[in-house]
Amino acid sequence: MCDCLFCKFVSGEIPVNKVYEDDKMIIIRDINPQAKNHFLGIPKAHFKLISEATPEQVAMIGECLKTISSLTEELSLQNGYRLVINQGDDAGQTVFHLHIHILSGQKMNWQPA
Ligand code: 5GP
Ligand code: ZN
Repeated sequence: MCDCLFCKFVSGEIPVNKVYEDDKMIIIRDINPQAKNHFLGIPKAHFKLISEATPEQVAMIGECLKTISSLTEELSLQNGYRLVINQGDDAGQTVFHLHIHILSGQKMNWQPA
């Protein structure tokens, strides 16, 4: 039995409002938004890091990115958006089930140097 919050969202063991669902991924709203809109794209497969993913899982992540980019209205992507995948301690990863942060609806107040 996997003791993982996001696996419990995926399985329905913990109910969560889903913005989107397909066979590979669910998308929910982040409980602690860091932008006007802050969604989480959660692959249904459990793994922590891209470096631990199988080639099939890497391809699946690519398909999830493509799907996210197509959800213009649902995710308010019209004026641009930011995708973030935190990996490990330095990045501040707190849920060890790989997920894609989707930030939209405002100018981002941090830019990489
Ligand atoms: P990480 O820090 O691992 O990149 O991102 C984990 C994200 O999950 C955080 O942005 C946090 O706010 C979000 N989160 C943690 N617990 C819950 C929850 O119970 N519900 C929702 N919707 N988001 C959560
Ligand atoms: Zn999980």
